[in-house]
Amino acid sequence: RTWPSEGRLVFHNVSAGYLMTVRPVIRDISLTVDPGTKLGVCGRTGSGKSSLILTILRMIEIHNGDITIDDIIRNRVIVIPQEPVLLSSRSVRDNLTGLAAVADTTALVDDSMILEALEKVQLREYIDCCASGLDTKMESVTLSAGQKQLLCLARAIIMKRKILLLDEATSNVDDKTNELMQKIIRTEFQGCTIIAVAHRVHTLADFDMVAVMDEGTIVEYDSPAKL
Ligand code: ATP
Ligand code: MG
Repeated sequence: RTWPSEGRLVFHNVSAGYLMTVRPVIRDISLTVDPGTKLGVCGRTGSGKSSLILTILRMIEIHNGDITIDDIIRNRVIVIPQEPVLLSSRSVRDNLTGLAAVADTTALVDDSMILEALEKVQLREYIDCCASGLDTKMESVTLSAGQKQLLCLARAIIMKRKILLLDEATSNVDDKTNELMQKIIRTEFQGCTIIAVAHRVHTLADFDMVAVMDEGTIVEYDSPAKL
């Protein structure tokens, strides 16, 4: 047994769905993601990729089986959802430092760290142009869905969790933004366990493993070179 354990995720025969009563959208998935593994998830629209991410977060109902994530789930996982929801009445700073839920984190984060993270995701200039900078209310910053994901990525850089879940936006991220996100994943999250939904298979070329989903289950699981 390795100690301390750092980001191992295990699915044991997991089925899950949006309601207990309806057909599961995740069907009997068994999967072990070792610490530090970069796993890409792809598959057709509606195949269950986002649902897989939600299952890890226990945001949909688990009908059967179970998922183990080291010991303490919430302190280890950070997610970049397909459609990020930001808190519009709070400041850019609050949205980046995780708010009161992680008061201890907030206390440790100074503005230079925040600005550095914004620089990395190429949103620094954008925020600098707002009159109140990091104190600007989120509602007065108009961000595209792709930019919202970049902002979440900046938050992930600041919060440094062991497990990163990333559900790539489908239509709203252009090739350049996608490249930037991939570069950040490679450089900023070395040693982290990553599960990333990707709509372009070629972006998974330097991942360790790729899971191809279809109708709620994993139909192929191999290294990118072999797929
Ligand atoms: P995309 O590539 O378009 O993002 P996806 O692979 O992420 O697709 P999911 O969003 O996981 O697909 O959807 C899997 C199944 O779950 C689909 O049949 C979908 O209709 C269903 N589903 C998704 N969200 C909900 C919801 N909120 N309530 C009920 N069913 C849902
Ligand atoms: Mg999705």
